[in-house]
Amino acid sequence: MRRARVIGAGISGLAAAWCLREAGFAVEVVEAASRPGGLIETLHTPHGLVERAANAFVWTDVTARWFAQLDLTPLPPLESAARRFIFRDGRPRRWPLTRLETAGLLARLSWAGLTRQLRPREDETVARFVRRVAGPAAARWFAGPAMQGVYAVAADRLSARVVFGRRPRSTSGSVAPAGGMGEFIERLYERLVERDVAFQFDAEADYLAGPTPTVVATGPGAAAPLVRPHAPSLADALERIETTGLETVTAFFEPRPDDLQGFGVLFPRGVGIDALGVLFNTSIFDNRGPFRSETWIYSLDDVGASAPADARVAADREVLTGRRDRIVAIYPTRRPGALPVYDRRVLDLSAHLDDLPPWLALSGNYLGQIGISTLLARAETTVAALVARSA
Ligand SMILES: Cc1cc2nc3c(=O)[nH]c(=O)nc-3n(C[C@H](O)[C@H](O)[C@H](O)COP(=O)(O)OP(=O)(O)OC[C@H]3O[C@@H](n4cnc5c(N)ncnc54)[C@H](O)[C@@H]3O)c2cc1C
Repeated sequence: MRRARVIGAGISGLAAAWCLREAGFAVEVVEAASRPGGLIETLHTPHGLVERAANAFVWTDVTARWFAQLDLTPLPPLESAARRFIFRDGRPRRWPLTRLETAGLLARLSWAGLTRQLRPREDETVARFVRRVAGPAAARWFAGPAMQGVYAVAADRLSARVVFGRRPRSTSGSVAPAGGMGEFIERLYERLVERDVAFQFDAEADYLAGPTPTVVATGPGAAAPLVRPHAPSLADALERIETTGLETVTAFFEPRPDDLQGFGVLFPRGVGIDALGVLFNTSIFDNRGPFRSETWIYSLDDVGASAPADARVAADREVLTGRRDRIVAIYPTRRPGALPVYDRRVLDLSAHLDDLPPWLALSGNYLGQIGISTLLARAETTVAALVARSA
């Protein structure tokens, strides 16, 4: 049997290992940490389930196929999850624009559509693109908070071409396995072990040699030295990719009848709240235990040396709700450098990918979209191309 190798056992690496095994290879996975999953990890605490990074998949045809092949039942979101809020003028709003701003938005969008100006221009940031086609109010009250909520940086640091590039079509919003995101990782890992995929944990790859087909599924910083001997200009481009860090703080409270129900609230900058957003976990999925569970999300750029997590959550929550409820339990997770900054440099990478030798391929969120559904699709196409090239 031909051998293949995967570096990194996050969801990208595990999915690549699965696809290589399906293609008939004997696969070895090398992982620097002591467990599979990378960023994705679910804690089963006495207070309820805590997600340390992703809390859901976007439900696409690809996600559905992976759930089916792993015999996992998708937990659909609760109806209340359809309600999303943006904080403006001291309260959460489902539509944050005034009537005048809404009229301006519609007029600008129609004009941009009529004059075929709806595509992002080369080098245009998300902030500039949204201001151009939808106006300053939409940029301030929609694009700014939404981009910070998903990408953890301001909209003027993101490339509109990258962010509004092709994305998978969702058929029914977010889903998660009933046991949390960790269940997907555990099931995938178990099935790989059953199929004789060999795992080496606590093992940091530092050099790769051909011709064994290899998928590097680490972040861009760790991929650069592995790629350098074989594709130096790609390694330079990988090193230029900036990353940003996040802190997620899951806090549990006694539930109250007047608790706001919904997916969560996004906080534009300058509204008196440090968090980028908050997820109301108990209104999204019904497996979050007896307490009210909320995940507050902070940029590590903002909170470097600021107040401890419980004080920050209590202060931000008081601005949101006007109340100081007792925090029953709190679980903070810091992820420095967790996410790439999706700016021009992500687009520049594609110019160098052809420099890779036929036996070597990259997979990971810095190559395009952030979402794990896209990462599953990327692993499939990456492995198919690698197998074809190295045949
Ligand atoms: C707070 C937060 C919330 C998120 N929420 C969502 C969400 O709700 N939905 C969604 O779709 N996405 C979400 N994301 C994004 C998603 O979690 C990530 O895009 C995805 O998990 C990245 O997976 P990966 O396998 O590509 O990388 P990683 O998970 O970073 O895995 C890379 C692996 O490579 C290993 N490694 C690194 N260097 C080496 C080396 N030299 N040798 C061996 N191993 C090495 C690392 O230890 C790691 O295990 C979120 C991200 C964060 C941070």
